[in-house]
Amino acid sequence: MTKQDITDIKHLLATKKKIVIVPHKNPDGDAIGSTLGLYHYLLKGGHDAQVITPNDYPNFLKWVPGENTILKHDTQTNECNALIEKADIIFTLDFNAFHRTGNMETVLSESNALKIMIDHHQAPDDYATYTFSDVSMSSTCEMIYHFIDMLGDTSSIDTNIATCLYVGIMTDTGSFRFRSTTSKTHEIVAQLIEKGADNTSIHAHVYDSNSFNRLQLLGCALNNLRIIPESKTAYISLSQKELQKYDYKKGDTEGVVNYGLSLEGIVLAAIFIEDKQEGIIKISLRSKGDFSVNEISRAHFNGGGHTNAAGGRSLLPLQATIEKFISILPSYSKALNNE
Ligand code: 5GP
Ligand code: MN
Repeated sequence: MTKQDITDIKHLLATKKKIVIVPHKNPDGDAIGSTLGLYHYLLKGGHDAQVITPNDYPNFLKWVPGENTILKHDTQTNECNALIEKADIIFTLDFNAFHRTGNMETVLSESNALKIMIDHHQAPDDYATYTFSDVSMSSTCEMIYHFIDMLGDTSSIDTNIATCLYVGIMTDTGSFRFRSTTSKTHEIVAQLIEKGADNTSIHAHVYDSNSFNRLQLLGCALNNLRIIPESKTAYISLSQKELQKYDYKKGDTEGVVNYGLSLEGIVLAAIFIEDKQEGIIKISLRSKGDFSVNEISRAHFNGGGHTNAAGGRSLLPLQATIEKFISILPSYSKALNNE
């Protein structure tokens, strides 16, 4: 984003606008935190702002300030489409291509509104008039802080904005541990705490809100953990039957893939989750060091993401998907064993 872009955006936001803010499908902590953080900021600026998510999000995010104002496109389609059609500006946050919004792809690509993309995924599409894309950023929430800073407005960050942005930085950095966490990230987090983000309470809301069933499902996942030592790889699978047994709710499998990576000597971790409703196997991949799961996901599983965290999908049955995964590992043997 150039100085001229910032001058233009300041000019644009100097008068009241109708603004829609959209994150990716199956929004996570960063998607919800960044859209709501920006929402509160724009409201303070006197704009008509509305967050529209493609679909629902996990219960552990159903307390983030302003969360109760979110409209969901899959169940409130007409209302959402009307707002998108009337919008002057659409902010697209935490994704790099319209297809990441699922069924919102058409209405977004047909909209005449000015688009502003703020995102940290690789290979952004060029649909936006203004694109703030930086793959080195820990989170889109960190980028929203920078965006407000570039607008010269950090003094307007209040407890609500700070809380929202803290949520996304915390969840996308694995509680400040991933490589993308920099001294600057910590400086920003310090500012957010200064401005009212209650770090202990935010951690408790997000991480200490497990149901008994969710922990039992985790036990089942850990029981299904397999290791392929020659490829420094660990993987977990969960069938639809297992999900049903433990009354699976959205978000229940969030973070489970990381257990594979916590094994000593493991460089690549995967989880395969059967989704009969969508007719796919949802895949999450995580890695350590320079080994790129984004590349594997793009090349073999119709997905993408970041170097150390990516996702994708497979149309094969669960077992066949796992077999495909195992069969491609030897071609990455050199890279895996270099880590
Ligand atoms: P997760 O495994 O937690 O769903 O996603 C990890 C990272 O990969 C996130 O940054 C997410 O946005 C990205 N990602 C997950 N699934 C997909 C996908 O199907 N396509 C693309 N392009 N990125 C994905
Ligand atoms: Mn993110």
